[in-house]
Amino acid sequence: MIEARGLTKKYGETVAVDNLSFNVQSGKITGFLGPNGAGKTTTMRLILGLDRPTRGSVTVNGRRLNQLAWPMREVGALIDAKAVHGGRSAYNHLLCLAQTNNLPKRRVHEVLDLVGLHDVARKRTKGFSLGMGQRLGIAAALLGDPQILMFDEPVNGLDPEGILWIRNLMKALAAEGRTVFVSSHLMSEMENTADDLIVIGRGKLIAQSTIAEFIAANSQQSVRVSTPQRAEFAAVVAAAGATVRDDSDDRLVVLGLTPAQVGDLAFEHGVRLHELSPAHASLEQAFMELTASSVEFQAGLPGVAPDQQAVGAGKVN
Ligand code: ADP
Repeated sequence: MIEARGLTKKYGETVAVDNLSFNVQSGKITGFLGPNGAGKTTTMRLILGLDRPTRGSVTVNGRRLNQLAWPMREVGALIDAKAVHGGRSAYNHLLCLAQTNNLPKRRVHEVLDLVGLHDVARKRTKGFSLGMGQRLGIAAALLGDPQILMFDEPVNGLDPEGILWIRNLMKALAAEGRTVFVSSHLMSEMENTADDLIVIGRGKLIAQSTIAEFIAANSQQSVRVSTPQRAEFAAVVAAAGATVRDDSDDRLVVLGLTPAQVGDLAFEHGVRLHELSPAHASLEQAFMELTASSVEFQAGLPGVAPDQQAVGAGKVN
């Protein structure tokens, strides 16, 4: 369990992490979601004791990480996969880490097997691909067999096979009862992986909920309708209290009615339908709207006024 209370980190005038309080539970994957520059890496560095908070505190299993004799056995982290001495082999890199943390050599072989790097273990890491470097970083994180694992944007730049591998590994680690805390700036990635979500923007907590709650609260159902009697049917559904708009393919998009209600209305008014399909607003869109006002360098989100922003299940003001 990771517990942050009023966690704050300032770099000069920049407030990178602003009064964050959250819990990360064991046996689950908790997604740490926020636009670039939101403060995810800084928060993870504070958890690891690599930086000191300006205010507030964060504990891991009830203790600060810099109070622990062997932190690698409590928390494993992949923060910057490129932070490996390129002249060393993967094996030597891990062996060095094992020795300084009083871990058995056997563990080096175990983690190399686990991440599928055994065959290239004696090669210099300088020639490693991004995916191999990522696997090596994960091997290092797993070395101390820690209960808590943190991954900072682990799938960035990986091919689909690498992404699937990391996703399955995180699921297996959580199924073993470990705490898995993973950051991303992509909602789609979290949707496929996380059980719980912590959303931040400009260092502040925006929402904390289960992924199911987040989906229920943020993916508004709509019904797409194709009919040769467009104008007539638009008036019918509007009269029934629904909101109607056109999509780019000349279909009607109906908000506020179920597919069955829309079908019944068409039947009652003798309107011919060529298509009737339920649709969900994408979660990526919901996330962008939720964090729109907190994006550091906004590229302009057309049509999203601040007062129309989606509100998450666990919205924190
Ligand atoms: P994220 O991981 O969500 O992309 P970061 O934690 O890297 O966000 O950064 C949060 C903010 O803090 C950004 O504005 C970033 O520029 C700033 N920041 C991060 N590290 C430093 C540092 N060492 N010195 C100054 N500013 C920093």
